[in-house]
Amino acid sequence: MLDKLDLSTKAQELRELLGEDANSPVDIFSLANQIDGLTLVFYPLGENISGMCVRDNKIKLIAINSTMSYGRQRFSLAHELYHLYFEDESGFNVCSKRLDPKSENERCADQFASYFLAPYKSLRAAIKKAAGDGQLSMRHVIALEQYFGISHLAMFWRLVSEGYLSSDKLKDYSSGVMSAARYLGFEDKLYKPTPVELQKRTYGYYLKQVEELRQKDLVSSGKIDELLLDAFRDDIVFGLDEDDQGGDAID
Ligand SMILES: [Zn+2]
Repeated sequence: MLDKLDLSTKAQELRELLGEDANSPVDIFSLANQIDGLTLVFYPLGENISGMCVRDNKIKLIAINSTMSYGRQRFSLAHELYHLYFEDESGFNVCSKRLDPKSENERCADQFASYFLAPYKSLRAAIKKAAGDGQLSMRHVIALEQYFGISHLAMFWRLVSEGYLSSDKLKDYSSGVMSAARYLGFEDKLYKPTPVELQKRTYGYYLKQVEELRQKDLVSSGKIDELLLDAFRDDIVFGLDEDDQGGDAID
């Protein structure tokens, strides 16, 4: 049995630690980039793996499967933050894509992720605002997942776990989601994977270290390029994003 209250409390603690308030939707990728020493890698990790977390006294690394939907990637990152902050200081987790994982700590990490992205109190308030005391329809579920930035299935299962929906409605609530979201006036970004050309990317601490080497002139420029290419940052090495070369601030 999961201790949901404990996991909800942990989600609130981490929000606070990372400078977020208790209720608002979060830009989790931006938050993760501010975590000291954390390297974030996006990579096509295959059919079965949603993410990985590697940590010891030298390394903090989270990898996210970039072929999954944007909403699921946000969920996966929150899941990996649970491993990073609330499990052993040294460890290695390879996490399954399935949302019904069997091991206790995987289930805890999923529940934590759900609370982190959609805090208990603010989800309840959003449900009340959207549907009053009525039954939640597909359009309500879509509005909620769009507001909190969480994948459709993760939102569905959260609503099941809180007693708002029944699990036997999964089929009814899981087809035609993207087109329904478009009809309702939402962007479809939440439901799409990262574009193929951006699926391999590294952000965070590794890049900061390479930049430090470059600033201090400690290694050759060829070596810097090699380190960047190892991190899939050909965009930096080859200046692929030419748009920002004009010198004007981009707004
Ligand atoms: Zn996990």
